[in-house]
Amino acid sequence: MDLEVESQIVCPYCGAVFMTVVDTSSGTFSTIEDCEVCCRPIAVNVHCHYGEIEAVDIDRA
Ligand SMILES: [Zn+2]
Repeated sequence: MDLEVESQIVCPYCGAVFMTVVDTSSGTFSTIEDCEVCCRPIAVNVHCHYGEIEAVDIDRA
């Protein structure tokens, strides 16, 4: 099973859409991703099972 799943992120600052790869092997987690366009920090909360993303919450970090 492929535990690395691509997820789409929409930047809460500039609205840019980009893809990131999520490691689902350890379940639900939070991380900070820098926007590829405006470089501001995005708080990403990933709700996932082994190999499957349930939901991605995005907020300003
Ligand atoms: Zn941005």
